[in-house]
Amino acid sequence: MNAADRERYSRQILFPGIGEPGQEALLRAHVAVVGAGALGSFHAAALARAGVGSLTIVDRDYVEPGNLHRQWLFEESDAAEALPKAVAAERRLARINSQVRVRGMVADLTASNLEDLLGGADLILDGTDNFDARYLINDFAVSRGIPWIYGAAVGSYGLTMPVIPGQTACLRCVYPEPPSGGQPTCETAGVLNAIVSAVASLQVAAALRILCGQSAEVHSRITTLDVWTGAIRQIGAPRDPECPCCARRQFPYLEESRRGPITLCGRNAVQIAERERPIDLLQLKARLEPLGEVRANEFALRFLTPPYEMTIFADGRAIVKGTSDPGIARSLYARYVG
Ligand SMILES: [Zn+2]
Repeated sequence: MNAADRERYSRQILFPGIGEPGQEALLRAHVAVVGAGALGSFHAAALARAGVGSLTIVDRDYVEPGNLHRQWLFEESDAAEALPKAVAAERRLARINSQVRVRGMVADLTASNLEDLLGGADLILDGTDNFDARYLINDFAVSRGIPWIYGAAVGSYGLTMPVIPGQTACLRCVYPEPPSGGQPTCETAGVLNAIVSAVASLQVAAALRILCGQSAEVHSRITTLDVWTGAIRQIGAPRDPECPCCARRQFPYLEESRRGPITLCGRNAVQIAERERPIDLLQLKARLEPLGEVRANEFALRFLTPPYEMTIFADGRAIVKGTSDPGIARSLYARYVG
């Protein structure tokens, strides 16, 4: 560490949990942030300011005006240009801390690109908005022994859980399967920026502690918080000795055949059929009604969000018209179905 670093990070170095050895470790560290939306853009900015040496930012979306109230890194000009979030993040982070190496990757995380995108990371931060990505990250992180920090926020409520392979519970110890049915999302239920920064801050603090070599002090537990009511709870999350992932080391989400939206040839449409997840279409219709034209019966739901049209079936399968890009289709699915 040179004199300029010592000055720049002085207040952080003074904190006993970090000190000079901790700061040295941060400067050497490489963190991957998956999803540069509300949580992820906060993670990236906080880690860049803290002096984490290398950041990989993975995101498949573009900045839109509706993101700006909660996505800390982005500005009106990014939305006006419809810049990819990974690109806008890279530009902004270079202005926040020019010493940090930032790799902005415009990509949809899949089993086939996980290695390229996350392989070199010392730690992974979850800034995603969907369970498909989290199960993928969990299998990858546990298989490689890379710590990752789960986080989620919607409405005024959020939760976080650190996963340190071999030490704490993993996502599948706690939730063996992704939840079935549609989930409330920021698009359908709204979200406060205060819950986003609260959850993201807890994730970042856990990340700093792990990167500074204090993994042993990080507890296996879920923290839930509601910034509207002020309720905060911590729930112990014991490891499942029979966990298929961290105990039996089965990693089905890493098998490429499991995933894979199909581009429907010549139809400018993508079919999503990644998993069976029965959905109550009438409930989903009620959630989507304020957002666009929607029609549903018990078999199928059609939702217009121009220029796209989504048809969602009761078994969770969907066809997204108006794109042949699986990343866009998956993004729309995560936003509106959950
Ligand atoms: Zn487990």
